[in-house]
Amino acid sequence: MSLKLYNTLSRRKETFVPLNDKQVGIYVCGPTVYNFFHIGNARPFLIFEVLRRYLEFKKYKVKYVTNFTDIDDKVINKANEMGLLFSEVADKYIREYFQDADCLNIGRADVYPRATEHISDIIKFIQGLERKGYTYAVDGDVFFDVNQFKDYGKLSKQNLDEIKVGARIELDERKRNPYDFVLWKKAKAGEPFWNSPWGEGRPGWHIECSVMSEKYLGESFDIHAGGSDLVFPHHENEIAQSEALSGKQFAKYWLHNGFLKIENQKMSKSLGNILTVRDLCKRYQGSVIRHFLLSAHYRSPLNYSIEQIEQSKNSMETLNNLIYNIHFLLQQNDFSLEIDSESEGLLLKNEEIIKNFIQAMDDDLNTPVALSTLFLLAKETNRYLSSKGLKNKDVLQSVLDFYDQYGDGVLGLKYLSETQEQGQISEKEIQEMIRKREVARENKDWKTADEIRQQLKEKGIILEDTAKGVRPKKV
Ligand SMILES: [Zn+2]
Repeated sequence: MSLKLYNTLSRRKETFVPLNDKQVGIYVCGPTVYNFFHIGNARPFLIFEVLRRYLEFKKYKVKYVTNFTDIDDKVINKANEMGLLFSEVADKYIREYFQDADCLNIGRADVYPRATEHISDIIKFIQGLERKGYTYAVDGDVFFDVNQFKDYGKLSKQNLDEIKVGARIELDERKRNPYDFVLWKKAKAGEPFWNSPWGEGRPGWHIECSVMSEKYLGESFDIHAGGSDLVFPHHENEIAQSEALSGKQFAKYWLHNGFLKIENQKMSKSLGNILTVRDLCKRYQGSVIRHFLLSAHYRSPLNYSIEQIEQSKNSMETLNNLIYNIHFLLQQNDFSLEIDSESEGLLLKNEEIIKNFIQAMDDDLNTPVALSTLFLLAKETNRYLSSKGLKNKDVLQSVLDFYDQYGDGVLGLKYLSETQEQGQISEKEIQEMIRKREVARENKDWKTADEIRQQLKEKGIILEDTAKGVRPKKV
């Protein structure tokens, strides 16, 4: 089976064939760093990082680049509001970005280029376009002339004559065509600026992604991704700039994720329903949020609600408990080395589930189906664990390996047996309480023994008396 990805450029699923066998280049449009990112922003950061994990699982070498837009009107306004330099605002929110990305267990990109660190590259790029006749300058602003680029509209499938010029296009009488967009912006009084052949100013937004993707991945690279709101005009404009200059295909595959709603409403400042990852991480463990974000296919809309996230919390608890219980059996040497028919059955089931997992991910990263395989194995394993007799060591280990390689490795879900949640009882405490209960029982102090059993039960741990002694079990 080979990986298929839905390419916005062709509007169909295509078999993924990298441009070369050395490395797969991925560029994902990153955040404008002027505030905390919200749960909707998190969706592309997370799903395309899962794409990276999956490509690496399939033995591709990946170079992953995601940018920080550290200069634009929003950053400047925020700096004025806070009485800071624009660069101080950018630095602050880049730090905050990493804190929230860590909560969600989003692995690091290979490069995080920043627009303001590439000003001379940007100027050179615009000069290149200028030499080829794709630009015109008016009063210190430099525009891209879309009439000169015959493929304009190929990604968003826009018919330029048909669309009305709306909110997404800046109206400007100086433009030759309403779709022309700014490459270099003249500085207004009091704004940060850089010197350029066109006077003091700063780069437009679209140009940084064309320049920085070329710098780190080359003129042509494999995958360009971002939210579906970026298809037009941002990605359309990136294609125009890059292909006009290089004369080559820019990105081969274009991937876009769907929107996220909050309780079936659009997230917006005016509705006051913006949900930041920072706030959500105070209430839920990162893996719970991650599970929620992966619970719908990335191209489908996703609705956040308390019920949905609570469901993700329950799902993660099921996995955490199972993994805890298996670890415990292995640590206590509470297993057998013989394979009985039940053990054999679970091994076969496990193999089948791995196949289903890979099939789902190969199908344009179908994470909801991939997640469901984790729970199918949990169900089968819990049934196995509750049957009579000692459990086979290799079978237990193969179940753990599955969660390690696929749940953690590919989907990035961290289990609580590895990362103890705050306020949760530790393994050491459990053992200490069991020991105290044993002492109480030896002294025929049934009251204390019962109290300890009850305390553990309140923390979700039941005690089973077995031939090998007492065994705690998370439920
Ligand atoms: Zn971009």
